[in-house]
Amino acid sequence: MQAPSRVRSVGHFIAGKEQGDDAARFGDIYDPALGRVQSRVAFADDAVVESAVAAAEAAYPKWSRLPLGKRAEILFAFRELVKSHADEFASIVASEHGKIVNDAGGEVTRALEVIDFACGLPHLLKGELSESVSTNIDTYSLRQPVGICAGITPFNFPMMVPIWMLAPALAAGNCFILKPSERDPSASMLSARLLQQAGLPDGVLNVVHGDKVAVDALLTHPRINAISFVGSTPIAHYIYETAAKHGKRVQALGGAKNHLVVMPDADLDAAADAIVSSGYGSAGQRCMAISACVTVGDCAEPLMERIVERIKGLKIGAGHDASNDMGPVVTAVARERILGYIESGIKDGAALLADGRNIRVPGYEDGFFVGPTLFDRATTAMSIYRDEIFGPVLVNVRAKSLDDALSIVNASPWGNGTSIFTRSGAAARKYQNEVQAGMIGINVPIPVPVGYYSFGGWKASLFGDLHVYGPDSFRFYTRGKVVTSRWHESNAGMNLGFPTHK
Ligand code: NAD
Repeated sequence: MQAPSRVRSVGHFIAGKEQGDDAARFGDIYDPALGRVQSRVAFADDAVVESAVAAAEAAYPKWSRLPLGKRAEILFAFRELVKSHADEFASIVASEHGKIVNDAGGEVTRALEVIDFACGLPHLLKGELSESVSTNIDTYSLRQPVGICAGITPFNFPMMVPIWMLAPALAAGNCFILKPSERDPSASMLSARLLQQAGLPDGVLNVVHGDKVAVDALLTHPRINAISFVGSTPIAHYIYETAAKHGKRVQALGGAKNHLVVMPDADLDAAADAIVSSGYGSAGQRCMAISACVTVGDCAEPLMERIVERIKGLKIGAGHDASNDMGPVVTAVARERILGYIESGIKDGAALLADGRNIRVPGYEDGFFVGPTLFDRATTAMSIYRDEIFGPVLVNVRAKSLDDALSIVNASPWGNGTSIFTRSGAAARKYQNEVQAGMIGINVPIPVPVGYYSFGGWKASLFGDLHVYGPDSFRFYTRGKVVTSRWHESNAGMNLGFPTHK
C-alpha cells in the first residue's frame, strides 16, 4: 500500500539535524492494529550514509577526548529525559509495533537499566597498572574507543535494543550511527532528540533509516570500525560475514526458539502463568519469548489444561488500550507467515488445543491479529517446532526424562534463552550446567539479564564472542592498549637480548 502524500515522514538524524524529505525512496510505517499506513520513513542511500559517517568523524576527536565526568553527565541527563518521556516512548512503540502500551513501558524500563550502567563509565573505563614489572619499569593498560561504530536493530524492541548499543558505545567515547528497523523507527528519533537535549554534541549520534541498501553501505564502509546487529539468524549471519570481511569487529545477535522445560514436580500453576506470559506477551514477538515447552513425564496433560484455561481469559486488542493483554503482529506478511505455520502444524498431526486463526477484534477488522495458539504433541521434525515462528504460537513436545529434555533442547540450532520449572535443586543445577544456551531461567520464564550483566545467546543466536550491554559491551566498544614505561634518571644500558623481568 502506498502512503498518502500528506502523511508525516520520519527523516534521518545527521549532525543534529533531521533531513530526508527529498529522499528517492520511502518505506511505509503501519498501524498494525488498524492494518493501515500511518506514516512513512525516508530510506538512505550510499550518499546519506556517507554524510552520517562524515558527521561522526567530525565529532569524534572532541567526543573521544571529553573528560569522562562530562560524558557521564550527558548520560545522566539523558537518563532523566528518558524517564520523563517514558509514556511518550511507550505510546510511539505501541502505535508502530502494536504491542500493548504497558508492555512497551517495560521496554523503556529495561532500557533505563542499560543507561544506568553506562553512566558508570568513569569506573568501567579504568585500566590496570603493575608497578615494577622490571627494574624501574611499570606496565599499565588502557581502554580506548573503537572509533565510529554502527548498530542495526530489529522491529520487536524499537526503543530498548537501540539503547543496548548506543548507550555503552557513546559512554566509551565512540561516535555511533544507528540504522533502526524501518517498520518502527520513531522511538529512535525520540532518543536522538533527547540525547541532543541532554547535551550530546551534534554528529556523535546519527540515525539513518532504510533497508539493505543502507545496511550494506554501513557494513562495507571503510571508516566504520565496529558493527552491532540484532535481528533474525539469516541476516545476523550475513552481517557477521560481510562486516568481518571488511575488517570490522562484529557482534551479531540472531533469532531463537526458546525452550521451557517443565518437570513433573514443578508448581504447574506457576509454570502455566509463566508460559502464557512469555509465550503470548508481545504476541510472541520477543527474542526471549518461550515458543517451545518440553514437558517431562506425566505433567503434559494437567499443564496443557491450565494453559488452555488461561488463554481463554486473554483480551486481544489494540496496543494503546492498557486493558488488553495482547496486540496484533507487526505486518500483514508476518500474519500470513504465522497462519501458514498453524496450517502446517495441523497438517503434520500436532494436537491443536487453542486456535488463533479466526480472531476478530471489533473496530479493528483489518488489523494484523492472530490469537494465542497452542499445539500439544508436536515432534522435533515438525516445522512448528523447528522454525522460529515469531508469533503467538506455542508448541509442546513431550519428553520422558530430564536427560531426554536436555537432548531435545541441545539439539536445537539456537541457544538464546531457556528455562526450567522444578522444585528440585538437583534438576535445576543439572539443567543450568548442561544446557547449551546463553541465558538460563530457573522458575523464571524470560531470563533477560539485568543491565549490569550482559545479554547474548549461543549457537545460531549469536555470531561473535562478546554479548551486548553490561560489562561485555564496554569490551566490545573499546580497544585495549598496554603501555610499558621506564621513568628513571639512569640509562639502563645496551642489551640485545629479549627483555626479561629481571
Ligand atoms: P530482521 O533480521 O528482518 O531485521 C533486522 C534488521 O536488519 C533491520 O534493521 C532490517 O532493516 C535489517 N535487514 C533486514 N533484511 C536485511 C538484508 N537482507 N540485508 C541487510 N539488512 C537487512 O529482523 P526483524 O524481523 O526486524 O526482527 C525479528 C528478529 O530479530 C527475530 O528473529 C528475533 O528473534 C530477532 N531478535 C533477536 C534478539 C536477540 O537478542 N538475539 C533480540 C530481538 C530480536
